[in-house]
Amino acid sequence: MSTATLTGACPECETDLTTPPMIQGETLSCPECMLTLRVDDVRDDKLSLQMVEVQLRDWGQ
Ligand SMILES: [Zn+2]
Repeated sequence: MSTATLTGACPECETDLTTPPMIQGETLSCPECMLTLRVDDVRDDKLSLQMVEVQLRDWGQ
């Protein structure tokens, strides 16, 4: 029986995450540190997550 969820860990705060099925390239926010994470790989219901460099708007001053 396969699960309907995926698991992974936040690379920043190491919080265990459980998500609905996602595909490579999708992004989610870590509920703990609010970091934006991108799905780098999915294998055996395990997510490989990468931090996304969020482009903050530079208002120049
Ligand atoms: Zn986190």
